[in-house]
Amino acid sequence: MEHRYRDRSVLIHGKFRSEKWDFEDHILPPITTSTAFRLRSAERGADGFLQFANPDLDRGAVHPIYIYSRLDDPCQGLLEETLAFSEKGETAVAFATGMAAVSAAIGIHVSAGDHILAHNALYGCTYSLITNWLSRFGVRYTLANLNDRKTLESSIRPETRVVYLESPCNPTLELVDIEELVRAVQGANAGRPDNERIVTIIDNTFASPFCQRPLTMGTDFVVHSLTKYLSGFGADMGGVVIGRRSAETDLLLFRKDFGGSISPKAAWNILVFGAPTLALRMERQQASAMRVAETLELHPAVKFVRYPGLDSFPQIDLARRQMRDIDGNFAPGAMLYFELEGEQDEAYERAKRVMNHLAENSLAITLAVSLGQIRTLIEHPASMTHSSLSSEDQAAAGIAPGGIRMSVGIEDVRDILADLEDALAAV
Ligand SMILES: *Cc1c(COP(=O)(O)O)cnc(C)c1O
Repeated sequence: MEHRYRDRSVLIHGKFRSEKWDFEDHILPPITTSTAFRLRSAERGADGFLQFANPDLDRGAVHPIYIYSRLDDPCQGLLEETLAFSEKGETAVAFATGMAAVSAAIGIHVSAGDHILAHNALYGCTYSLITNWLSRFGVRYTLANLNDRKTLESSIRPETRVVYLESPCNPTLELVDIEELVRAVQGANAGRPDNERIVTIIDNTFASPFCQRPLTMGTDFVVHSLTKYLSGFGADMGGVVIGRRSAETDLLLFRKDFGGSISPKAAWNILVFGAPTLALRMERQQASAMRVAETLELHPAVKFVRYPGLDSFPQIDLARRQMRDIDGNFAPGAMLYFELEGEQDEAYERAKRVMNHLAENSLAITLAVSLGQIRTLIEHPASMTHSSLSSEDQAAAGIAPGGIRMSVGIEDVRDILADLEDALAAV
């Protein structure tokens, strides 16, 4: 039934009829937060255990026998149906946080001795997961520039099982050419037996499914921090892995045993408030981001602005090809990065003064990490989100001492601009 409707409508209503929960007489799905479920009979209890994570059953078609909330629950299941739809994936499994989702997406695909190839610009905790934790378990890794076809191909080893990337990257907004990368990995997979196949995983948090749907470009899995654009209001944490049905059993078992299940209360909020307003919020935030980027670009205190919607964006052709909204229009998103004028130390001090000026004087712009909320958030990567990187690693990742990251919200854009101009004038 939902196939007759456009994305915008399905994100609001979800599946017209879901097997997950009987709520014929409700407009909103009920919120249910039972940690354990009544099993009614020994037989039904046994069936529940047979059913859970059973690869021979289509989760979308059977009415689930719920057992215990860490395994599965109705709000979580309804959210998963909507999220799978949003990315055009066969299945979605939701998690407590974005990092729980990243851990599962990688975790189900590697064993000791295997190798992960990841792009050299990664979300800080993903970097730490791969380099600190997975390496302890004997999983090796290479971080490389995956936009360089030769580097990509020469970094793939016989024991490579995962190619991992983000696009746009944090915080510089650099893009990775997803279709080109998928072609290279397909080439490397030719002739490999199924159990040695390399899977591609992309963190699509910065774009959101509104601006980009990587599964339609051939990637195997998409992960999101639901905490960001999909939740949208900054009130809930969550994560999701979306992709091939063949991985569903492992994702559910990984979640069961590592324990990163999403709380039904968070799932309900994202289902009822976040997903239904995604398109509306993104359109507004994106239009404002364009205005902010254009204004900043002309400002004398600003060296340059990186926003995929600007003609000056270094990968503008790729941006136009790859970032498309659910109606097919160019969708450069609502994240931007800009650098202040000045030599290293001077630019660093200026950036901090801009942060402090905004923290003390601005209503429209909040000094905070995170992104994707209805509120405009600003931060200084060199001293905040990316401060754990050495200055050499920061430079290699394109993070300058005077670099500033902004996540544009839904405030009146004239207020965002006025507060930004005040802060820039003060330094
Ligand atoms: C925030 C974020 C994560 C981690 O998500 P949490 O919900 O904070 O665990 C992963 N990747 C990207 C790109 C993010 O912005």
